Amino acid sequence: MSTDFNISNQINYIPNEARYTNMKYRRTGKSGLLLPEISIGLWHNFGFENNFENATDILKTAFDHGITHFDLANNYGPPYGSAESTFGSIFKHDFKPFRDELIISTKAGWDMWPGPYGNFGSRKYLIASLDQSLQRMGLEYVDIFYHHRPDNETPLEETMGALDHIVRQGKALYVGISQYSAEETIKATKILKSLGTPCLIHQPRYNMMDRWVENGLLDTLENEGVGAIAFSPLKQGVLTNKYLNGFPKDSRAVKDGRYLKTDQINEEVLFKVKKLNDIASSRDQSLAQMAIAWLLKDERISSVLVGASSSGQLLDSIKAINNKEFSKETLSKIEQILKT
Ligand code: NDP
Repeated sequence: MSTDFNISNQINYIPNEARYTNMKYRRTGKSGLLLPEISIGLWHNFGFENNFENATDILKTAFDHGITHFDLANNYGPPYGSAESTFGSIFKHDFKPFRDELIISTKAGWDMWPGPYGNFGSRKYLIASLDQSLQRMGLEYVDIFYHHRPDNETPLEETMGALDHIVRQGKALYVGISQYSAEETIKATKILKSLGTPCLIHQPRYNMMDRWVENGLLDTLENEGVGAIAFSPLKQGVLTNKYLNGFPKDSRAVKDGRYLKTDQINEEVLFKVKKLNDIASSRDQSLAQMAIAWLLKDERISSVLVGASSSGQLLDSIKAINNKEFSKETLSKIEQILKT
C-alpha cells in the first residue's frame, strides 16, 4: 500500500490493490521461487507490427490480476528483438516501480543474428544475447534466463557453464532450459548442480493434445526438483472455441500463419475441439479455461504460460483457476475424445 502511494506521483499506472487476492502461487520445483498459476508470454502480439496500446493493456491486465511472471525471448517479435523492446518501453513507463514484484524471463537458443555466433548454444552466443536483451528491455538483470532449445553440436558443459556464468555476473537470478528431452534434462541438471547453479525450471510445450512430457519428462523434473512451466497450453488458440465456426480474420492462424497454419486445424481436430467444448460448457467453463485447468490439476506444473491477443482473452483465461477439479469420469471422457 505505502509503495503504491509513494509511486503514484511518478507514473501513470496504478495497479489494482487487490491484485494478489485471487491468484494462487506455486513453488517452482524445490526452489524458493513462487510462480503464479498463470503466466503471460510475449511471443505473439508484442512486436513492432502489433498495437502498442493493446500490448500495454494486456500486461496491465495481467499484473492487475496477480500475474507476476512475464516471459520473453530474444527473437520474439517480429522483427526479432521487438517484443523485448516493446516490453522495455512499457516497463519504463508503467512497471519500473514494481520491478521487485515481477519475474521477467528471456531466452536464447534459436536464430537471432547473422553469422556463426547468433544461434544455438555457445557461450559466445548466450552471453552476448543476454546483454542485448537487457539493453532492449532496459533491465539490469532478468529473473530467469533460459537456453531455448538443446544444441547437440555444442558440449553441454559449455552451454550450462554459460548459464552459471550469467548468474555469477548478476545478469540472471535463476536459469532454465526449454524443449530439452528427459535424458538431456538429467545431464543438464547434473552439470548445473555441480557448478552450484541449480536448474530452476524447464519450459516444454504441453497441452491436452500435445502430451510428450508425460513420457518421462515430468517424472524427471519431479525427481530433480526442477519446476515446469507449460507453453502453448491452448495449442496456440486451437483449444478454445475460436475456430469452431470458421477462421476468424483476426486469429493467429489467419493473421500470422508462421507457426499455426489453417490446415493444421482440420475437421478431425475440430471434431475433438467441439466435443471438448461441450464438456467445458457442462463445467460452466470456456474451453480455454478448461484446457488451462486441465494442466493445473497436476501439481508438478508450476505455472501455465498463456498467450493472449487481447486483455479480454486474458481475463477469460485467468478464470481457469476458479475450477481446477476434475472427476475421474470427466477425465476419462476427455481421454476418450482425444483418442478418437
Ligand atoms: P497459447 O496456447 O495460450 O495461445 C495463445 C493464443 O490463443 C492467443 O494469441 C489467442 O490467439 C488465443 N487465445 C488465448 N486466450 C484465449 C481465450 N481465452 N479465448 C480464445 N482464444 C484465446 O500460447 P502461445 O502459443 O501464445 O504461447 C504462450 C507463451 O509460451 C509464449 O508467449 C511464449 O512466452 C511461450 N512459448 C515458448 C516457447 C519455447 O520454445 N520455450 C515456444 C512457444 C511459446 P489469437 O491470436 O488467434 O486471438
